[in-house]
Amino acid sequence: MNWNFGLPRRGLLLLTLGSALISQAQTPLQVVATTGMVGDMVARVAGERAEVDYLMGPGVDPHLYKATASDVRKLQRADVIFYNGLFLEGKMQSILERMARSGRAVAAITEGIDHDRLLDPGDGSGHPDPHLWFDTAMWSECIPVVVETLSRVQPESAEYFAAQGEMVRQEMASLHQWAVAKISELPKDQRVLVTSHDAYGYFGEAYGFTVVGLQGISTVSEAALADMAQLVDFIRERQVKAIFVESSVPHATIERIATDAQVEIGGELFSDAMGTPGQMENGYDLGTYDGMVRHNITTIVEALK
Ligand SMILES: [Zn+2]
Repeated sequence: MNWNFGLPRRGLLLLTLGSALISQAQTPLQVVATTGMVGDMVARVAGERAEVDYLMGPGVDPHLYKATASDVRKLQRADVIFYNGLFLEGKMQSILERMARSGRAVAAITEGIDHDRLLDPGDGSGHPDPHLWFDTAMWSECIPVVVETLSRVQPESAEYFAAQGEMVRQEMASLHQWAVAKISELPKDQRVLVTSHDAYGYFGEAYGFTVVGLQGISTVSEAALADMAQLVDFIRERQVKAIFVESSVPHATIERIATDAQVEIGGELFSDAMGTPGQMENGYDLGTYDGMVRHNITTIVEALK
């Protein structure tokens, strides 16, 4: 995936008309991100001053992802690397931490969030829930780390990155307000979200949903039969109208539960990976953070109403 803003070419000289000033155009930073959500935020903050590539495309599960040889080459060539952190990128986190220790510009965008505010998944892993991005207000608090890291690597663009960061913060604030308004269409007792894995804990906290994921916080462990039977009972007891599959987790188990509980599949949600850039649905670009959030919330509200 690549956001190429096509603006200034390497080494291009800009001549400022009316003055004798000749300044060298910024060479776009080469940035690599892990997930699409991280890449989307970084690309929006970096604007024309960077070319942002991300490693984990549509349908890719970051919990299970192993870096390929080509990923490692991309990481080695990058001027700056951003990742989610909090062990979302399970197997890759140690590579990224090693690169950071060796003096490379590598940042976990969640590193500025106060740990007291992170959710404990209660799975005994000792790691907090990494799926911050579905609380849009909290996700926007990751912007300063992006601004600071880019500014450290390209100090002459610090003002530009700060202004871009503020613009992205305002866009996310209006996305959050849209989400609150859309969800208010759904009566509180119908706000029950059943999905494949526990990716929506922060979403539930932010927007008042009871969230039940079959596989726990990571997709590493498979669903046990006892859990499936419990979930079927829960769906019947709460008279849940629909449950949801996720684009980055196999659908089979949720489909079986839907059959057993005689409940509908309300649609496919994006959890740990975005859609394909330019893939439009109901006017939303599923390959953007904004589009995936609007798609998810619309799908959930319409199916549970
Ligand atoms: Zn996940």
